[in-house]
Amino acid sequence: MQIYKMKINHNLCTGCNVCVVSCPINFNQLRKKGELTRENAVILVKNGIACPIYEDERSFNCDGCGVCVEECPQRAISIQIIEVE
Ligand code: SF4
Ligand code: SF4
Repeated sequence: MQIYKMKINHNLCTGCNVCVVSCPINFNQLRKKGELTRENAVILVKNGIACPIYEDERSFNCDGCGVCVEECPQRAISIQIIEVE
């Protein structure tokens, strides 16, 4: 199984929220739940910096689609693919 781990360059991120609103998983969760929280978002801005959220117990996590990487105006996001058992 692969896990997609997003890395945010804190020197570049401005906290603009573009990644949060462009992420398709966040979009679907927002539509379902009416809000984005730590429980249902895969990326959120906290204290002015984008924070990826990975939760083992959840049925969904970042699927590595790369939309946020493309949309980030600062090119602050990279994705690492981790192989797990
Ligand atoms: S889109 Fe880029 S600059 Fe904006 S909050 Fe996300 S990571 Fe930071
Ligand atoms: S790679 Fe895709 S699923 Fe993962 S946070 Fe970015 S936009 Fe969302």
